[in-house]
Amino acid sequence: MFTKILIANRGEIACRVAATARRLGVKTVAVYSEADAGARHVALCDEAAPIGASASKESYLRIDRIIAAAKATGAQAIHPGYGFLSENASFARACAEAGIVFIGPPASAIDAMGSKSAAKTLMEKAGVPLVPGYHGERQEPEFLQDAADRMGYPVLLKASAGGGGKGMRIVERSDDFKAALASCKREAISSFGDDKVLVEKYLTRPRHIEIQVFADSHGNCVYLFERDCSVQRRHQKVLEEAPAPGMRDERRRAMGEAAVAAAKAVGYVGAGTVEFIANQDGAFYFMEMNTRLQVEHPVTEMITGQDLVEWQLRVAGGATLPLRQDQLAIRGHALEARIYAENPDNNFLPSTGHLRHLRMPDAVTFSLGDNPSHPAAVRIDSGVRAGDAISPFYDPMIAKLIVWGRDRPEALALMSKALAACQVVGLVTNIAFLKRLVESDPFAAADLDTGLIERNQAALFPVAAPASNDVIALATIALVSAESRRQAQQLQQLQKAGPASLAGDPWAQTSGWRMNAVLDRAFVFGDGDLAREVMLSYLPHGWQLQSGAAPASIDLVSHDAGDLVLRCDGHIVRGTVVIDGEDLHVFSGERHVVLQYKDPMVHAGEAEETGGRLTAPMPGKIVAILVKPNDSVLKGAPLLIMEAMKMEHTITAPRDGVIEELLYATGDQVDDGAQLLVFKS
Ligand code: ADP
Repeated sequence: MFTKILIANRGEIACRVAATARRLGVKTVAVYSEADAGARHVALCDEAAPIGASASKESYLRIDRIIAAAKATGAQAIHPGYGFLSENASFARACAEAGIVFIGPPASAIDAMGSKSAAKTLMEKAGVPLVPGYHGERQEPEFLQDAADRMGYPVLLKASAGGGGKGMRIVERSDDFKAALASCKREAISSFGDDKVLVEKYLTRPRHIEIQVFADSHGNCVYLFERDCSVQRRHQKVLEEAPAPGMRDERRRAMGEAAVAAAKAVGYVGAGTVEFIANQDGAFYFMEMNTRLQVEHPVTEMITGQDLVEWQLRVAGGATLPLRQDQLAIRGHALEARIYAENPDNNFLPSTGHLRHLRMPDAVTFSLGDNPSHPAAVRIDSGVRAGDAISPFYDPMIAKLIVWGRDRPEALALMSKALAACQVVGLVTNIAFLKRLVESDPFAAADLDTGLIERNQAALFPVAAPASNDVIALATIALVSAESRRQAQQLQQLQKAGPASLAGDPWAQTSGWRMNAVLDRAFVFGDGDLAREVMLSYLPHGWQLQSGAAPASIDLVSHDAGDLVLRCDGHIVRGTVVIDGEDLHVFSGERHVVLQYKDPMVHAGEAEETGGRLTAPMPGKIVAILVKPNDSVLKGAPLLIMEAMKMEHTITAPRDGVIEELLYATGDQVDDGAQLLVFKS
């Protein structure tokens, strides 16, 4: 076994490799770009080397810098992860030349599988079934069209050097062939620098089923069963599972043996995946081989109980495979959902930003039912923490959520529960979409094929329903609780600051209680296109809230860092509310609802931001001054407190700056718009 390896990747896969290495006592070296200097994968490794600017071609794709980092740190081997240089034969060769072990197949095997056309020719010789089509050298448009005409439409044009769903065109009729070919070739040359294409029969309602294979350098090769990755958008995987629903033993063996034959045909060593496309009748055809670890490898780990990264390290170190074929078995069912920063409602466009709030289900204590010994499990592979950015430089993946249950229905139920527990604020994600997908009838019934998402648009992209009264109650109480917490803090500061203590002063209380009167406050929340009006009445204990027809009485049972438990007319309502500027994110049970709330007081201050003056948002009385002239304050620091309209309002610093002059004293009455102090940035 190696004593030190370098991980030539970032994000969740770098973290995942680091975790196995640590368990095995292998030291790790991270590499990182400028954007990733503070990234989670860097923190998880024992050493770290900077390799350049943020753009991947300046860093994660720089063979020279990665090899130099490995040499400088004395790493004996390099794990390439997936993507970046993982299927780059020149990188594998450069490692060998530098005397460093490339944790992957020989460069010759990468080359052999690098071209879809050449791989097909090889597979044909090895007796692996292929989709009917033409994958030879001839590229004249007339010749290719003739081949397509004879095959019958629809056909699929694929860039021979393609990958990642790029460079593919479905052609429905002979008349469309020429134009589609030209556009496919254009995309192929611009994306892969090679305009060679192949033509395949386009299967309708196919399933994507792939086989995990593993070979060692002693001639052994096994298959670790299949993964079904049929649920795709734009030919990219969204949900993966193992085993494939409906797979019978004979077919599993036939596919496994075909995959092993494919691997052996190219002298494969290490982890690889042979991708097949299967008809609904079960007939399967070779599509391509990925000569690396796949994003979706965890589902295989869950059903086999094996750590594939450990296998990779052992095999790369020269060991034989840990298990024989007859020692491998499938246990239970696993599902993986890829949580992306992307907008499903806008054609899955990636979104970028900071993860201002990030909460994932607890991997250890999360289980189905109340039985603590229940074996169901949740695993989260992620490369980010709360506060991190999803930048435009890399793949917008936030995490992979992987669950295991004793059977598919159990895994499905667990996945939907786990997705409901994922909370992200700061960017748009596909979490709600994934949840609808997992709960959709065709997915639950395992009626799988690559067109599932497109065929079920109505169920998967519903029009958002208005927020429930429970959600409105959570948002309102979170707002007023945050407000009274802020005021309590200010009171504390006040007590520290001035000799005239306000403790015990009934006029300094912030509970909303008023002598001889009930305080009513009106709120208006933006809820999609709706404006939701809410009337909140403060009672001696709790509130009365009217957002629908009938008012509800509300008690706050507990409140801990945004996690609220309310009693609403006797029933318990739980949720997490994250206040992010004007957005109120309410996570309650099954849904994530975003409401907008414009605080008139906050906006009154903002209007003055540029003027260097701070003005009273409404007529009132100064009840406390928290700063002195020449004090330096940070943006958001409380400066003074006014009482107006029976409520206290805190005037805060609009940005970092210095207090130049105070224009009023405590107890002074001020007019609407009066300048309160002079503030300098
Ligand atoms: P890439 O390397 O770009 O990922 P693949 O050859 O692996 O391309 O194909 C990606 C996806 O395209 C498959 O998972 C499947 O959904 C679809 N696909 C590929 N070949 C066919 C085909 N002959 N008929 C129908 N769909 C196909």
